[in-house]
Amino acid sequence: MWRGERLLIDGDLVPAAGGRTYENVDPATGEVLGTAADANTADADAAVAAARQAFDATGWPTDHAFRSRCLRQLHQALLDRLEDLRALVVAEAGAPVLLTRAGPQLDIPVEMVAWVADLLDSYQWSRDLGVAEIMGGRHRRWVEREPAGVVAAITPYNFPIQINLAKLAPALAAGCTVVLKGAPETPWSALALGELIAAETEIPPGVVNVLTGSGPETGRALTAHPDVDMISFTGSTPTGRQVMAAAAPTVKKVFLELGGKGPCVILDDADLKEAVTFAAASVCVHAGQGCAITTRMLVPADRHDEAVERAAAVLERVPYGDPADESNLMGPLISEAQRSRVESLVEAAAASGATVVTGGSRPEHLRRGFFYRPTLLSGVGEADAIAQEEVFGPVLAVLAHRGDDDAVRMANNSLYGLAGAVFSADPERARTAARAIRSGAVSVNGGIYYGPDAPFGGYKQSGTGREMGVAGFEEFLEMKTLAEPAE
Ligand code: NAD
Repeated sequence: MWRGERLLIDGDLVPAAGGRTYENVDPATGEVLGTAADANTADADAAVAAARQAFDATGWPTDHAFRSRCLRQLHQALLDRLEDLRALVVAEAGAPVLLTRAGPQLDIPVEMVAWVADLLDSYQWSRDLGVAEIMGGRHRRWVEREPAGVVAAITPYNFPIQINLAKLAPALAAGCTVVLKGAPETPWSALALGELIAAETEIPPGVVNVLTGSGPETGRALTAHPDVDMISFTGSTPTGRQVMAAAAPTVKKVFLELGGKGPCVILDDADLKEAVTFAAASVCVHAGQGCAITTRMLVPADRHDEAVERAAAVLERVPYGDPADESNLMGPLISEAQRSRVESLVEAAAASGATVVTGGSRPEHLRRGFFYRPTLLSGVGEADAIAQEEVFGPVLAVLAHRGDDDAVRMANNSLYGLAGAVFSADPERARTAARAIRSGAVSVNGGIYYGPDAPFGGYKQSGTGREMGVAGFEEFLEMKTLAEPAE
């Protein structure tokens, strides 16, 4: 298998400064796939220095046409190695291969690079505000957009290629230079991008630097570094709070994509079978390791038992196991630690009165790897930890509501606000509920919002700003207002 083992710093593929490597583990088997460079703070410093130099002293920030060409080269390089990347993300993230095909684990993020290059070509970098009478004079004013500067992009393990590219491509299009730090669990998904950039594109040295490491040190160093202008972070809300705090002394621009505890609101006129199938199948996508997955199913109180029965039937039929098997919707959890966390959250829910309707244990037939059975919990109260905390496992909690207003109130009873879903036979009623949910995305009657042009991000403690779409690109831009005396 293709393995990107080396860091990319200032155009060179190098081992970590301390010479250390660490093991990359296959979550489906527990076996070591290989190793990756284990960067330390010296590597972070070198990467930031290279990015700073490339931003301050080269034409990269101002040469739109060159950047567009480089992005198209990257897109082509990704297409040329698409099958290698597919095997890589399936192996190290345990991502079901199904989710890579025309999906968010690979094919769509690769196309996003071309979409961003097109946006760069057509973007209006300057906007005229016209002439205004100000303090007795006439002045022509206009606004120009400029790159934000040196970006530290810090990413999680669950959709590594998607999230790495969702930061890298628009940052480069904007004219920023980047230090990308991949997740400890999925180093090759970041290092492979570094290799492609070095070998297959004209992207100049220092414009992209790629780091990986076994712990949080390099991420911490980047978030506090005085030469970093902006942080683009995706990960958990607790880590996001640390990132924001670390960035405060140097007042960096901070973009955060954090956790979620999305509601799936099923109104009383909805097709229960369709809605419950959606909710139950969704929590199994990538074993529930998706921030936008709806993990609280809110059902009408008088249809609660029927909904529970239907959801259990779906969860018991979900195909899971080897992520390389095309028929599986769900592979393993990323690590033993993550599986233990899921187990303890489910055990705590059961101890505090929830019923484990199905699942709640490790599968007997999958002895190797970090698998966990699709799990349904009923009798969950809205204030219970299992209804409030992000689990990041294939666990669906069922809660009963008493009508549309109550359902929306319960949906909003969360510190998160990333994504949700609503089902109703009446599309306008569904849209009304969707508008009332305080979150960055809502699926209405099973609609899929994900795509390169669709902004994605959170309300409340699910984050700040938006990734992807024009809004995601503009996160990487500063705005400069200019004026000169008019005739
Ligand atoms: P995590 O927060 O543990 O780690 C994310 C990244 O931050 C990793 O690269 C990690 O090394 C780094 N990091 C850890 N501590 C740091 C620190 N103090 N300073 C700087 N960097 C630090 O998240 P994870 O376990 O890899 O991923 C799962 C989480 O990510 C879930 O909470 C999930 O909801 C969230 N997520 C959010 C989105 C979104 O778009 N909102 C998308 C995917 C995942």
